[in-house]
This record gives sequence, structure tokens and C-alpha cells, in this order.
Amino acid sequence: MNPNSKNDFLPPNSVLGIVGGGQLGRMSAMAAARLGFRSHILAQHEDEPGLQVSHGATIGSFNDPDVLKRFAEAVDVITFEFENVSANGLDLMSDLRPVRPSGAILRISQDREQEKTFLGSIGIPVAPWKIVTDEQSLAEAAETVGYPFILKTTRMGYDGKGQFRVHNAEQLDEALATLSPKPLVAEGMVDFAMEISVMVARGVNGTIRTFPATENRHVSGILDISLAPARISEEMAAEASRIACRIAKGLDLIGILGVEMFVGRKGELLVNEIAPRPHNSGHWTMDACPCDQFEMHVRAVTGLPLPEPVPHSDAVMKNLVGPDDMALWPEIVGTQGLIPHLYGKREARPGRKMGHVNVLFPYGSMPGEFGVQAALGPLAGSTE
Ligand code: AMP
Repeated sequence: MNPNSKNDFLPPNSVLGIVGGGQLGRMSAMAAARLGFRSHILAQHEDEPGLQVSHGATIGSFNDPDVLKRFAEAVDVITFEFENVSANGLDLMSDLRPVRPSGAILRISQDREQEKTFLGSIGIPVAPWKIVTDEQSLAEAAETVGYPFILKTTRMGYDGKGQFRVHNAEQLDEALATLSPKPLVAEGMVDFAMEISVMVARGVNGTIRTFPATENRHVSGILDISLAPARISEEMAAEASRIACRIAKGLDLIGILGVEMFVGRKGELLVNEIAPRPHNSGHWTMDACPCDQFEMHVRAVTGLPLPEPVPHSDAVMKNLVGPDDMALWPEIVGTQGLIPHLYGKREARPGRKMGHVNVLFPYGSMPGEFGVQAALGPLAGSTE
């Protein structure tokens, strides 16, 4: 593919390079196979979920230039499924093959300070925040954002890890001592009515597509359940989509990106964070949309046209986390209407995402809480 051409798309049998062998890489590889592509995954270990379904693999460190070069030379275009990879590594590979999304976008999403600064620069509202490096800046930040607030590491946080909720001044020392690496960011605690997310894809030629906003609920910092569409007004859904489009355009995105937002009590939307890859809250699209988030992602990075992401059903996605949910597997596969997706991980450690199930409802007929729980069958009790 000529990386400078706006019209070229990768022909069938081309090789999609995916950095990261987790479940997002696995499901991207499966979507790529449907489009006639081969996937080649760069993973750190032989037994990662993506390798079970990919055509080729390079095993090695994401930080080893020789490994990166070998991987890049084996593929036609490069994407990533995992944000804790080195953006410098992506930059290095971009001399050899197109990298989509770019290392510059990854760099912004990897660092909460850069992320919030970027969002502010394009006029996207976020919760009040301040950078913290030491005791003095923490005291100043507490003053500025007010109690309660959340202290977060600026880098390498995921699934609620690297966070400390600070309710009063007595907790300041403990919060500062607990979290590393520094710097940290103090973020005003949002009293939200709901958490939502929007998946936005942007193609090589600038076409932008958004999936309908999804309503997300977390348990212990980990996504538990997503409802699609989110139960918000049409106006708010349109505003959420506009915000996602502005971010995609502002970043010059090629690929897919998840935008997590808080819906405030007064109906305001605040962006929490962005993730330039397929996202757990978009898994419902696998069964409710003719072109799901993974296919959309693969299409975007390979230069294929992006169809309108029109769902044919309403959907609920429930994550299968750790040994407790996996103990229910025999009942889950035996329950009519639960669509299972397991990731092929051998060990069900507590807090580890092992798979998910989707449940479909006729378009426009999402039931209330009782109906959702009833449809989840053996998983009903495990949702808070
Ligand atoms: P994060 O790693 O930033 O996505 O945070 C994980 C979860 O913590 C979010 O999905 C929210 O449920 C919660 N959270 C994070 N930041 C805030 C905030 N500023 N106010 C309220 N809840 C938050």
C-alpha cells in the first residue's frame, strides 16, 4: 500500500500487523480474517489469546528495536490493541509501514495530562484537574478541585488501577505514598448519573462513523455490563456523538477510538478518557451490528470503506470476570439467548476478563432492569 495515497486499500490476503496479543487483538484478527486478511501479532508470550487465531506471530519485547523491525517487515499495515506499548516503538515502525492510529495519538492517550490538555485545547469539557508531583502540589490541587477527588497516576492506569479516592485532608499523605509512578493527577469526583461511551472510527479518507452511545456500569473499577443504546435522550446521544467526532478529527485519527464520558446530574457531558483501539464497551456490536467495532477498526486501518454502523438489535453485554463468573460457564453455554465469547485464557484469576456474553433484544425494545436481569439467566445475580 502506498501510505501517501488516500484511495488505496489493502487487497485480500494482505497482512494486518497487530501489536498486542490480548482479547482485543484476538477479536480484531477474527474480523480481519472475515475480510480476507491475514493477521500477524506481536506478543510478549506464546500463550496470548490473539495468537490462537492469527496467521503469524512475532514473540518478543515491545521495546526491542530488532523485534519491532522484524515484526514490521512481516506485515503491510500496523495497528495496536494494547495501550501500554511504547509510542516510540510505533514511531520507529512507522518508517517501515503505516502505523494506524499513529504513535502521536497513542502518546496522548497514554498520559492523562496530555489527554486532558488536548481535550481542553479543542473545547471538550472534562472534570476539573490539576497535576500533582509532591506534598505541596497535592495540597494546592485539593484546594483547587475540592473534596472528594480522585488521585490517579497519569500513566499506565487501567480498569481503575492506579487510583485513590481522597475524601478529606487526612488521606492526602496516604494517597501520595500509595500511588506511583509520579506525576499524578487530581481529578474532581464527578457525581454522575450515568457513564456512557461512544466508539468512533475514522478512515484514511476522513470518513467518520460513530456507533450509538453505550451505557456502562462498573464493579470494582472493572466494566461489568454495557447497555446499548444508552438510556439517554436523543439530543444527548447526538451531543455524545458530536464530541466523539470532534476528538477523532482533532487527533487526525485513522482507526477506532473509544470515548468514555460521564453524564452529570444536570445533563452535562464530561469526557473521562479516550482509548485509540477497540473497547470493551463496544463488544455488544459483535452481535447487534452488521459491521461490529472490530470490523470497523480493521476497515479503517486497511483503507476499506466504512459502512454506517446501524444496529439491528438492542443489546446488553456482560463481562465474564475471574473464577466466579467462569464457574457459571456450564450454565452460560446452556442458556438460550446468551451469545458467548470466550478469549481462550487458561487461568481465571480474580479480576481477569475471561470473556463476555451478549444478549439481543428487538431493536428499540430494551427492557427495564428486571427484564435485563432475567435475560442474563445464570449471570443475573452477579450484576450489581
Ligand atoms: P478511569 O481509569 O479513569 O477510566 O476510571 C475508572 C472508573 O472510575 C470510571 O469508569 C469511573 O467509574 C470512576 N471514575 C474515574 N474518574 C472519576 C471521576 N473524576 N469522578 C467519578 N468517578 C470517576
